[in-house]
Amino acid sequence: MLPHVSRRLLLSGEHAPRPHVGRSKVSAMSSSQSHLSALFTEAFRQLGRNRPVPEIEVRFYPYAGISHKIRLRSGRVYVRISDIFEKAPAEVHRALAYILVARLLGKRTPETHERVYRAHAYSPQVLRALDLARRQRGRKMVSSARGRVYDLDKLFQRLNRRYFDDEIEKPVLTWSQRRTRRILGHHDAAHDTIVISKTLDDREVPEWFVEYVLYHEMLHIKHPARLIKGRRRYHTNAFRAEEQRFPHYEEAQRWLEMVALKRHVPRARAA
Ligand SMILES: [Zn+2]
Repeated sequence: MLPHVSRRLLLSGEHAPRPHVGRSKVSAMSSSQSHLSALFTEAFRQLGRNRPVPEIEVRFYPYAGISHKIRLRSGRVYVRISDIFEKAPAEVHRALAYILVARLLGKRTPETHERVYRAHAYSPQVLRALDLARRQRGRKMVSSARGRVYDLDKLFQRLNRRYFDDEIEKPVLTWSQRRTRRILGHHDAAHDTIVISKTLDDREVPEWFVEYVLYHEMLHIKHPARLIKGRRRYHTNAFRAEEQRFPHYEEAQRWLEMVALKRHVPRARAA
């Protein structure tokens, strides 16, 4: 998230009011994510024998069906779990961790875990949730990235190629439902989603500015929040340094201030 009253506020993260919306929800999610990472670590210890346990990042993803993915990239393991399993009981999460880690290591899945997982995946309650997700998602998810003026998918692809060596795994990209003015962009790590304010889907807004807001949110994927002195820090020094490499960075800062003035909002932000 990017508060943008002024550059000063931007740079003085320690004194700035906490910029993230939906804060309580986000932290609740992070605790369930760290619970999941712990299960994956456990599975790695058990199945990997003497291998060192890599860093593991677990996210929920709103797939249209039940689908989970695991992959190894530059020494880190990235896991995406269908969000239909977000509220699953702990033993189902554990079973899923073993199944996915076994898949990654090319090992046979332990039978008991297979059973626990299947019993849950085929339960009436999950099938119902799945049916609902299929109806609500699919087409709608794809088209919500395309605005009237700008196509977030296209902008994402271009930014990813130009500045990230295509290394950023594509999140869910969507325009906000409402025309949020204070928050111009937001990355929801728990659900691997970037939301861009619909106010930017406008011919009056230059393309490089929309790109800047999206670029900022993509940096949140590349630089996950870190705990520093007991506080969760989103805009680390590494984050800020890389943000300033955006070619239109200075112009973007001026534009942010102008937007804030024009809207008479004391504190407009790209989250
Ligand atoms: Zn930010």
